[in-house]
Amino acid sequence: MQIALPQLPYALDALEPHISRATLELHYGKHHRAYVEKTKALAKEVHLADQPLERIIRQTAGQEAHRALFNNAAQAWNHAFYWRSLDPKGGGKPTGEIAERLEEDLGGHAVFVEQFAAAAGGQFGSGWAWLVLEDDQLKIKQTSNADTPLAHGQVPLLTLDVWEHAYYLDYQNRRPEYIAAVIEHLINWDFANRNLDRGTVAASAAERIDETARGRRRGL
Ligand code: ZN
Repeated sequence: MQIALPQLPYALDALEPHISRATLELHYGKHHRAYVEKTKALAKEVHLADQPLERIIRQTAGQEAHRALFNNAAQAWNHAFYWRSLDPKGGGKPTGEIAERLEEDLGGHAVFVEQFAAAAGGQFGSGWAWLVLEDDQLKIKQTSNADTPLAHGQVPLLTLDVWEHAYYLDYQNRRPEYIAAVIEHLINWDFANRNLDRGTVAASAAERIDETARGRRRGL
């Protein structure tokens, strides 16, 4: 993904009544845009402006000297991923591969709802709740502030922004109501299925490369 503000995949008022047009105008139009602009400016200073966001994030993760660039690049990426994690016709029970994997790895959709809501509600201060693929297992994770699963070798499948700017206009301090509304009405399971598919393909490709490398080392 290049450093740019992506188009929202729906109209500004499409997530109403769960997330208002006013929230999207501010969240997408101001916050997300500011992360993108700051990333562009900071990446230019270190000659990374032509690099994809994913590469900038991986290159600057954990480096104190590049903390501001990491934070802005990760927030730019996380927000683009968040908009696609939502769907005006989403929510409810998943279908397809992700439904089977939730069953196998977590114990089913009801367990997912409970654990994802707990991760989102229990994140102290600003951050994100995630459904990720790690070591070929579905897992629920929290990250603080700008941190992102991309910096930890995980494949993100879905996210929920729990920064106050995501819900304060609509729910004030009632974060659990925002979380429940998103899980019930907006989660984009098709997006999760596509990410799972890509993550599984990438993992088996990496395994094949690994096998080939091992073969070479054995002189095969
Ligand atoms: Zn946000």
